[in-house]
Amino acid sequence: MCGELRADGAGENVVLMGWVNRRRDHGGLIFLDLRDRSGITQVVVDEATGAAHQKADAARPEYVVAVKGHVRRRGAGLENPNMPTGEIEVVADELLLLNEAKTPPFSPAEDAIANEEVRLKWRYLDLRRAGMQENFALRSRVAMAIRNNLIGQGFLEIETPFMTRSTPEGARDYLVPSRIHVGEFYALPQSPQIFKQILMISGFDRYFQIARCFRDEDLRADRQPEFTQIDLEITWARQETVFRVTESFLKAAWAAAGIELTTPFVQMTYDEAIRNYGIDKPDMRLPAMVTLTEVLTPELRERLKIEQALPVLGFVIPGAGDLSGTQHKSLVNEVRASFGDCGLDLLDVKRLTTSTEFEPLAQAIRKELDAEYERFLKSNGGAESAQTGIYADYLAVVVTPKLGTPAMWNYDPQWIWKRVGALRLQLGAKFADKHGRYAKTGTENDYKFLWVTDFPMYEWNEETKTWDAAHHPFTSPHEDDIKAGRLTSDKGAVRALAYDVVLNGTELGSGSIRIHRQDVQKEIFRSLGMTDEEAQARFGFFLQALEYGTPPHGGIALGLDRIVMILAGAQSLREVIAFPKTAKAIDLMCDAPSHATEAQLRELHLNIRGRS
Ligand code: ASP
Repeated sequence: MCGELRADGAGENVVLMGWVNRRRDHGGLIFLDLRDRSGITQVVVDEATGAAHQKADAARPEYVVAVKGHVRRRGAGLENPNMPTGEIEVVADELLLLNEAKTPPFSPAEDAIANEEVRLKWRYLDLRRAGMQENFALRSRVAMAIRNNLIGQGFLEIETPFMTRSTPEGARDYLVPSRIHVGEFYALPQSPQIFKQILMISGFDRYFQIARCFRDEDLRADRQPEFTQIDLEITWARQETVFRVTESFLKAAWAAAGIELTTPFVQMTYDEAIRNYGIDKPDMRLPAMVTLTEVLTPELRERLKIEQALPVLGFVIPGAGDLSGTQHKSLVNEVRASFGDCGLDLLDVKRLTTSTEFEPLAQAIRKELDAEYERFLKSNGGAESAQTGIYADYLAVVVTPKLGTPAMWNYDPQWIWKRVGALRLQLGAKFADKHGRYAKTGTENDYKFLWVTDFPMYEWNEETKTWDAAHHPFTSPHEDDIKAGRLTSDKGAVRALAYDVVLNGTELGSGSIRIHRQDVQKEIFRSLGMTDEEAQARFGFFLQALEYGTPPHGGIALGLDRIVMILAGAQSLREVIAFPKTAKAIDLMCDAPSHATEAQLRELHLNIRGRS
């Protein structure tokens, strides 16, 4: 291969095939850099070879060539230390031009290609780039490591259909019209959820699949209409069973990228996540939020015009304590402006320290913030924590509710925690250079994993004025909440046996322990506002299956694309999906979606309304 030859192979006869990466004509000598997926080798073609030299003369970038020749050490001073093959070159005896190439719209030899649309349109050229080749080699290795690991843990890989009935995961379905059954449609699976549960009813015990899922949702930057999940389901599973299985295959996946992970991961409940990070997917690369509610006594609140009954929250941004007076002022203004009229305000701790009256309050606040910073440093193995006086380097951010601030915002009593959590992330990003905690070190420290458990079962939908399933309707509620009758009396307080695995502030995957009793499943459908008839029409086959000896089971699904993206250090899922779609759900290379012909539409008994 073009990337494999080294100095110890000098003198060997070789045949190389590949693409012309670059061509340099030095008159009597032509240099061709030959590229395949393993790398690049410099080929020298001497005028004395006659035919070979003539062909090399005709060769252009991206021509496909075959070279016969021998390996030679490059002359002293001519080595290229930046290339793995930089100590040698191949001296050509024969050259074949296997195929020509038109001048490409951009060169795969260049690293920086700005316009993504151009890259996607000419995807085959884009994929030839070394960086992309590496991403897909990594993807293949990671998928293989996960497969091997799960097989080793006793799982069977079983495929489930693409043409099926609707599976509710909260998105719109992609529909496939049936030619044979007029007016009927298959739905592409939003996930294999129902099938994997039926596989448990079928006695398969431990199932997995690296499964394609299809969801027709409004595309955000980091979503694709079709994506790949590592999907699994386990009979007789408790939450911990799923956690240990998942940690094991994630360890294998990270090992495939050369990183040793420590397991088990940290675990916290949804309520703890909201209280400490203001979000259900905490980024633990920075210290948590600190509750300062007690520090702000009723008297102090009175004096500082702070609402009495509401929380006061703070956090620190390490390394950002050295803002100049002007920088500090503009930050305060910026944050205050971003709060708009929601009632929250920034308490300027720096200014408090300059007043004798409020100096003790500033001290008390710093004490609390210090404690969290210390805990953070310790849990990150930081030796710095033993020293004193190191805290001066952090930026202290404290958020207070002004008089009249509402306790609920959009019916959400946790809105203050969430708003401050969002500010924490925003400032974390703004001062990334100062705290340096997002920079990759190539060690396991770069990856802060955790499990979030006890998610709420229901979510209030303000638009439809209904309670929706927060995960999906097959998720089991906590036994205690069923027993306490909360399914009907207090839906907002029902906890689900649902969990997420989170990494650096992104949700890598979610799952749950499922409902395995038909009566409970029916009750959950009812509690979601579905009549028995509707439930029967949509999920009759599944309700029936539940009646034939369904074992307790649970599972999870993780996004493979996202995992590979993170391991590759890529900024977008499109960097690790060979043929992705744009934000408008278009495949620019093959120009899909496209119109169907009249004949096709007729066969499918379809009429397009409003088509121009
Ligand atoms: N089917 C769920 C999803 O795709 C994951 C699970 O509960 O296993 O989000």
